[in-house]
Amino acid sequence: MRCKACADAEREPTRDEFHRGCMSCEARALASLGAHVESLERRCITPQYRAALEALFGEAWMQGHEHVKRWAGKITSAAARRKEKAT
Ligand SMILES: [Zn+2]
Repeated sequence: MRCKACADAEREPTRDEFHRGCMSCEARALASLGAHVESLERRCITPQYRAALEALFGEAWMQGHEHVKRWAGKITSAAARRKEKAT
């Protein structure tokens, strides 16, 4: 499931346009908030992060987590590209 905000974010991952009810958008919002960062550092899903995932995605939280990881990767590389341009 994809919405227009997601299609635009594929080109520009750091844009903050999110559609409520779109799993991919909610995951992107979580990824840009950095809610997953602590979890990534510890290489496990922290209880706080899992609670955020469950609040958003319910039973499908694992699937949501996959979306968050995917977007987080895109957001990070987009930010890195932007830095390169600035220097
Ligand atoms: Zn979307």
